[in-house]
This record gives sequence, C-alpha cells and structure tokens, in this order.
Amino acid sequence: MKLNLNIQPLNTWINKEGKQPLLIAGPCSAETEDQLVATAHLLAKTGKVTALRAGIWKPRTRPGEFEGIGSIGLEWLKRAKEETGLPTAVEVATAKHVEEALAAGVDILWVGARSTANPFTVQEIADALKGVDVPVMVKNPVNPDLSLWVGALERINNAGITKLAAIHRGFSSYEKSAFRNEPMWDVAISLKTLVPELPIINDPSHITGNRDLIAYISQKAIDLDMQGLMIESHIDPTVAWTDAKQQVTPAALTDIINNLTLRKPETRNTEINDKLGELRNQIDKIDDLLIQKLAERMQIVEKIGNYKKDNNLTILQVNRWDEILHKRIGYAKALKLGAEFTEKFLELVHNESIRKQTEIMNAEAGQVEEKLTHA
Ligand code: PEP
Ligand code: MN
Repeated sequence: MKLNLNIQPLNTWINKEGKQPLLIAGPCSAETEDQLVATAHLLAKTGKVTALRAGIWKPRTRPGEFEGIGSIGLEWLKRAKEETGLPTAVEVATAKHVEEALAAGVDILWVGARSTANPFTVQEIADALKGVDVPVMVKNPVNPDLSLWVGALERINNAGITKLAAIHRGFSSYEKSAFRNEPMWDVAISLKTLVPELPIINDPSHITGNRDLIAYISQKAIDLDMQGLMIESHIDPTVAWTDAKQQVTPAALTDIINNLTLRKPETRNTEINDKLGELRNQIDKIDDLLIQKLAERMQIVEKIGNYKKDNNLTILQVNRWDEILHKRIGYAKALKLGAEFTEKFLELVHNESIRKQTEIMNAEAGQVEEKLTHA
C-alpha cells in the first residue's frame, strides 16, 4: 500500500551545501544565552552541521524538573542564527508555541514524540500551521504505533505543509534494554514503504540515551538509507540540564560524523549492478519457491482439517505444535538461522494453518476469524 502525501523533496527546504549526511545538531535544551550561542559557534565551525536544534519548551515526564527556558530562548536562537548562519529548529507542542516560534523566525519546527501520540495536540498544531510555509518534522510517537505516526503526518500535510520529514527517535518499551528507546527499525521501514518520498531523519541521541552508542546507531541509520541525523550536542554535556548522558561535544560530534561509512542506495557502475542483479535473481527464484512451498503446505493443512473434522478431533494439538517448534528451531539453528526469526516465522505459518482449519471445521467460526484477521 502507498499513502498519498504531497511532499516536497528535502533539497527544496534545506541546503546541505554538499555536507554528508544531513545533520541537525544542538543542545537538548537552550539553557543560557552563552551556552546556546557558544555551542552554535562550535557546531558551525565543525563544517558538518546543516541546522541548529534546541528545545525551548521541554516535555518532561515528571513535574518539578527544568521545563525549558521558554520564549526568551527564541531570542537566543535568533542571535545564534545571525552569528553563525545556521538555520534553527525548535519543538512545538501547542498553537502558541507555533505562533511564537514563527514570529521569532525559527526555520524548522518539529513535533515531539509525546505530542505525536496525541491526535488532539497534533490537530491543534496543524490548525496553527494553516497558511504557513514552514518545514515540519514529525517524531515517531512514544509507542510503536505506525498509524499514529502516519496520522500525525497526514494532519500536518492536510494543513498545507508540504516541506515534511519524519524523525525516528525510537519507542518506549517496558522491558529493560541497552537503549533508552528501542529503535524497532521495522516501524521506520514500514513508514518508508508507505511513503517512499518522505525523508526520515534518525535521532540516535533519543534512541540510545547514551553518547557511547550514538556512532553505532548513526551508522545503522545510514546503512538503512535514512536521509539524515539529529544529534544532541552541548558545549559541556556533563553539566547539561536535560538529557546529559546522550549529548556529545561538537568535537565528539565531528569524530562521529568523520567515522561514518557513507553509502548510497544506487550506483551507475555496471559491473556492480550486474553482480547485484544476478544475486537478486537468485533471491527472486528462492522467494517464488518459498511461496510455492507455502501454498503446497496449506493444501496439506486443508486435507488435515477435513480429516480432523470427519474424525471429531480438535484443531490444536499442543504437543504436536511443541514438537514442530522444537525440531524446526533446532534444524534452523544448525543452518545458522536465528531462533527468534524461525520461531516468529513458524508461528505465522501455524496461525494461518489454524485459521484455515477453523474455516473448514466451522464455516461460521471461520468467518469470525476472517473478520478478526482483517480488522
Ligand atoms: C528532544 O528532541 O529533545 C525531545 C524531547 O525528543 P522526543 O520528543 O523524541 O522525546
Ligand atoms: Mn532531548
């Protein structure tokens, strides 16, 4: 499925001046005029940065923490832009934020992860943007819900904003992990598949929550053909008022960018393209075979379903399923396939078998299942 959004290419609203990759950097929060302006100068001097970010209004999980310096910070951003020439980017979460940021000449707005999760907030922002020609970036919602992310992009796009990008900042999860927010790359890839022309910018600071992992996630984002990076950078991260652990100095940022291996999605080199074409041919053949074999398997499932029905046997026989799972995972492991992948794949196949057999056993129940799976 493809989604119809009216989107202008990235190069119509941001001038990379040959810098690779597109890099938006700056402190998590504007704290003082000196901190912001000094950081901006160091970032501009790296020659790597395309735009300066800074949080002016900060969404904090608990009350009583620093909630952003507020409107005065917009004046500091203006000064930073005048002195460095860097365009500026700010998070907006209310109609008032939008008005104030635009009045202060902020170049790019972004919708934060918590706001994206709330359609009321997104609609309020969208309404405030009507009739305005400003680039807007939409962070993924805190929970891994592709529809919420898409919905927010649609609301902003419906308001007439065509200079649009998404920011992949990872997803909150209950389970403990090495990351502050699980990347769940597949959600970002699904968005790319739905809207191929939408630029996606990766935010390794908020994914990792840890400056030591920023280089690793940045490389992965580049390898997945994301269009840019947003990295939090502070003149002295150790004393930052917010997100201290995930910010890097402008010097460390330069190292991270210099050490990236840049890749391109395509090449004109015919030798490389021929070799790639040959390998892709092999994959195509294998995929055809996989589908053919899955269809054959399903035909046998149908026979089993009929046989069980005639002999009054239950569809699910837990022991049999357990045995299948164990045997197959062992075999797959020996062939160097990941256990998690094999289990997920088999589960998918098994669920489809159960659906098919339910259909056979009981036409009515089968219809209910059908409705549920397509809900
Ligand atoms: C931020 O960019 O500083 C921020 C608050 O991010 P998020 O909305 O991704 O939590
Ligand atoms: Mn932050």
